[in-house]
Amino acid sequence: MRIDVITLFPTMFVDPLSTSLLGKAIADGVIEVTLNDLREHGLGRHRSVDDTPFGGGAGMVMRPEPLFAAIEAVTTEDSHVVLMSPRGSLFDHRGAERLATREHLVLVCGRYEGVDQRVIDELVDEEISIGDYVLAGGELPALVVIEALSRFVPGVLGNPESLTTESHAVGTLEHPQYTRPAEFRGSKVPDVLLSGHHEEVERWREEESRRLTRERRPDLLGDD
Ligand code: SAM
Repeated sequence: MRIDVITLFPTMFVDPLSTSLLGKAIADGVIEVTLNDLREHGLGRHRSVDDTPFGGGAGMVMRPEPLFAAIEAVTTEDSHVVLMSPRGSLFDHRGAERLATREHLVLVCGRYEGVDQRVIDELVDEEISIGDYVLAGGELPALVVIEALSRFVPGVLGNPESLTTESHAVGTLEHPQYTRPAEFRGSKVPDVLLSGHHEEVERWREEESRRLTRERRPDLLGDD
């Protein structure tokens, strides 16, 4: 899959995209990410990309010309253009799975007070929010989206079983996990996990998963 990111701060992406699973997926060519510097499409001697809002008010708004030029330079008929925005629909497990099926994604990172509405009306297919809070820019949201969807791209996860067992995959939160040592500072791993009884381990995990979900996220069980 190919992802084009349009941003004023391409360097924010360098470390996260070269680290761990994502770094390997990109190095192996499973996912191709291109960072496009919006400043290159800026206007005038200062390569300006923003201006004051019509009607007055705080802050600056991203002008349409640089964004139109940057988006049109990378899109084809197969592209799906996503604007990072606190006004967008909330991103979740299903959203990540859905975006992972796209051949070409264009992720547009806003800054300042956001982008001129004409960009959204003409070029954006979807607006996505990563949560009900406001960040300074769309770069961290875009990284969240890239990392979350990459797990669904075949060849990225060493063990694809994680996709079906982890929190949110089956509508519940994952059970607690333990590793060696079996006792640490007086705290012991539950006996059942050391018992070797596969069915009992599975039953314990399911019960713990339901207990945690009931306690922390009853909305996922439809119980809120
Ligand atoms: N004035 C905008 C509003 O109230 O909706 C907020 C603009 S915010 C300071 C600047 C940019 O950060 C946005 O254009 C968007 O790209 C990004 N951003 C901030 N919070 C976000 C969130 N929760 N999810 C996705 N993108 C976000």
